[in-house]
This record gives sequence, C-alpha cells and structure tokens, in this order.
Amino acid sequence: MVYVAGTIKIALTAEALNMVEAVGEFSRHRLIPAVYIIGKEKKKPVLVYVPAVSGQSLAHGYQEQLAKLATMRGIKVCGLCQMGSFVKHGLPNIFLKDRVRDEYKILNRYDPNFVNFMENLYNLVSNDNLKDAYRLMLECVVEDIGGFLIPDLQLKRTSVVSFSYMVPVARTLGDVQPQMYTRAGVQATREHGQMIFHEDLASALYHFAFGLDIQRVGRAETPYGTVELPLAERLKRIELALDAFVPLIDSLRFGAKKSRKNPLAELHSVAVTISHPLPFRPEAAFSTDYIAETVKRAITVVNYLEDYGQEIKIYYYTKYDEKPAGGNENKVTVEEAENFVDLMKKVKEEILKLYQEKEKS
Ligand SMILES: [Zn+2]
Repeated sequence: MVYVAGTIKIALTAEALNMVEAVGEFSRHRLIPAVYIIGKEKKKPVLVYVPAVSGQSLAHGYQEQLAKLATMRGIKVCGLCQMGSFVKHGLPNIFLKDRVRDEYKILNRYDPNFVNFMENLYNLVSNDNLKDAYRLMLECVVEDIGGFLIPDLQLKRTSVVSFSYMVPVARTLGDVQPQMYTRAGVQATREHGQMIFHEDLASALYHFAFGLDIQRVGRAETPYGTVELPLAERLKRIELALDAFVPLIDSLRFGAKKSRKNPLAELHSVAVTISHPLPFRPEAAFSTDYIAETVKRAITVVNYLEDYGQEIKIYYYTKYDEKPAGGNENKVTVEEAENFVDLMKKVKEEILKLYQEKEKS
C-alpha cells in the first residue's frame, strides 16, 4: 500500500477561478469560513470568511488532464469523460420497457458506445454479476481514478485521488473585491449603449492539499471480491495519475473565467510525501516552516509505527519558505527538487520503483 500526498503553496493574483452565484449584474466569488490563529502571544483562534477555490474545481481540472493524457497515451477513456463531461454513467435508468429513453440517445453522439455500455452494465447487475459490472466500470481510466456513483444500480467507487479546497494561508493574505466592467454597444443609445456588470476578483497566497492512493489505481475492493486490471495496465495508469498533476498545477489547468482573468501565478513551495504501508500527509502550509514540521512529524510517525515497517519519503521545492534541517534518519528520507516538475519526476520514479518491487514480493 503506497500513498502519495502533497501540499502546494501558490500566490494567485486577480483570479475568478470559482464563482458561485450571479445576482443581477453581479457575480460573486466563492467565500468560505476558515479558522486562523492570530496574535503572537495569545494565539487566539478566529473564524473569518475568505476567498476559496473548491476541491471540486481542482478535481474537475485534474480529471480533464487525466482524460487528455490518457487519450494521448492510448489508455481507455469513455467518450463523455473525453469531452470533460464527468457523468460517469451515473444517469437514472436510461431504459424504458423495450427502448432507450430518447433524451439519452443523444449521448451516443459523444460516445458511440454509450447505450451499448449501459445495456451491458444493466444486464450484468440484473444477473447478479456485480464483480463484472465493476470490471466494466473500471475500463474508463477517469472513472477508475476519479470514482463514480450509479445510484440506480447501487454501484459506487470512492475517488482514488483527493483534493482539499484552496484557501489563503493567513487571513491577511487573501481578499476579494468587486470590479466594474462595461460592455459597450455598437450604437450608443441611452438603453443599450453601455451595460455595466461587476465580478468579484480575488487575490491570495493560497494553499491546498492532494492525495493519491496508489494501491487502488486499477484495482477495486468491492463487496463482491477484488477486481484488478493486469499489472502492466495498472502501472501505466499509476504513471498517468501522477503525470496529470504536472499540467494541473504547473500550467494551472483548473478553474473558470480564464479567458480574461487568467491569474498571475507564482509557486511558493511544494511538499510531497510517499508513504507505505500506512498513509501520511504533509503539514498544511499555514506557516513558513511547514516543510520542517512535516519532517519532524514524519520521524515521530515512523518511530511510533516501527513495528509496521512504516517508511516516509519527503520531496520538496521552495522559493520563499524555510528549508528543513535534518531528516534522513530511521526510514525518513528528505530530498530537495529544483522545481515542481523535477519534484514530480522524482516522485514518479520512486513510486514506479517501489511499486514494481512490492508487486514482485
Ligand atoms: Zn468515463
């Protein structure tokens, strides 16, 4: 069992990545309540509303990259996932008595195999062959890694990948303000010459967390037994699952409103851990010494879980945050990377090496 987990700290200026509601001519940015500790001496917790980007937004961007990279590498992706519509076959019963509901026939335009697939799935479930139903669902790599839910058939898979919300690292380092825009008409009449609208723009030093349960890629523990793809296919998918983080984070491939509000981004630091056999996560990046804190915690965890053979590797890149001192003791190794892409390259090499060894043993 091998787990990958990461913390990313990134400054985004003038972003509208996650709008949640429009009232008249005003579009609001997503705000969430967050707890911060203020005051050096008294260390008082306060609850404030801050700009945020949802984990759903990150997961959507990640799955889009997964679908794109999979298509380029010849790994199976269904037609709807390929176009970024993550319905994942979770539609209410698409069949009337002897025919397919008209509204669902249209989906065959995007995925010529859609109705056929659903028919097979419904047949497998009605014949109590649920293991093969899961096997069929794992065919599309986005559904394998991103999870799915089909309430009608009571088939579900928890996502192998997880994302937190993006929130400012401190209450003073994130704010949101409405900006005024005008849309000018061709003919400047009194009614239509100039239309005014407002959109919230946020800027923040954000941080967020992600996780990837490598053991579950291409493998499902179902109530009806374990379903597992061939090892070569699983290794290809593991590589893909790690590769998708590179365009997602390095090229900021998530969020909306990018055509005119593509944020100015600067990656401050990253910490990624590989742990096995039990999960571990890096510290959230509220402080500037979070990488050092991650190393300290990893050493404590590894010592406590010694009887279980727990090992943790920590990879980091930092431009502004403190570098950790020490590490590299008792099954905790620490390695610095030159940038985020270099970091993911190291993580991928280590995971593939580790995973191939695990599979052999
Ligand atoms: Zn799919």
